[in-house]
Amino acid sequence: PGKNGRQLPVSSTFTFESIGGQDRAKTELVEALDFLVKREQIAKLGIRPLKGILLAGPPGTGKTLLAKAAAQYTDSVYLTASGSEFVEMYVGVGAGRIRDLFREARTKAKKEGKGSAVIFIDEIEVIGGKRDGGQQREYDQTLNQLLTEMDGIHGNENPRILLIAATNRKEMLDSALLRPGRFDRHITVDLPDRKGRRHILGIHAANKQLDSSVDLDEVAEQTFSFSGAQLESVMNEAAIYAMREDLEEIGKLHMTMAIDKVMLGERSDKETSP
Ligand code: ATP
Repeated sequence: PGKNGRQLPVSSTFTFESIGGQDRAKTELVEALDFLVKREQIAKLGIRPLKGILLAGPPGTGKTLLAKAAAQYTDSVYLTASGSEFVEMYVGVGAGRIRDLFREARTKAKKEGKGSAVIFIDEIEVIGGKRDGGQQREYDQTLNQLLTEMDGIHGNENPRILLIAATNRKEMLDSALLRPGRFDRHITVDLPDRKGRRHILGIHAANKQLDSSVDLDEVAEQTFSFSGAQLESVMNEAAIYAMREDLEEIGKLHMTMAIDKVMLGERSDKETSP
């Protein structure tokens, strides 16, 4: 996908159980999603429908996984797009793509007989950055279109649309996006703590053979400030080291080398970036 702006629907087989750590984020998300699930009760009580949830936190912490799990939990179709896909040279193209995305979500939900659709937009800050008065940017139109679409979401429509957006630059977002009735639920998705790291390591070790020298509790201790994505890389790199030695089990040394590799990889990324 990408260039044509029409997002390929992705199957969402992720459940909250496949996400390690992030207990608070998961609880908050489920609480918010119940607003979608308990639709009748919400309507009876006259509660404003939930339209947008913002997931904010560093890269690789599981925001995409949470969005997929949200679609699964609410039995919704899932569509995904990235903010950068809506930035175009020509005026109006980005706005058109936003319109298409919402239209496609409704069509797909109807076709699959689902009562709701989850649209996940990663890197929302690319289209939803603060507008600075004077300078008109092409993507102001894109943002305006997104706001219009959100304002058009109704509690009793069928299918119901829920927007989930992710950012690692929440402070950059235009306040229009954060107003009540738009992305008014904010969920912080932080780097995992030791317990969270242990949980994530366990998830990514489940399909691998570890020998008895490997202690994942110890690995969790040694990987302070690693993201979920980095922990996934550690397990994968360790398996590659074991394979290079023609072994069928991952040993402690492979784990140590993998931690170093992921840590160094990060550092050289930082050094080469401007
Ligand atoms: P970005 O901001 O870079 O888009 P993200 O927060 O959306 O990152 P994901 O795409 O959800 O991160 O995570 C990338 C990969 O890292 C996942 O596919 C998964 O393998 C692993 N991962 C990240 N967080 C977790 C987690 N909490 N539990 C298990 N795996 C995780």
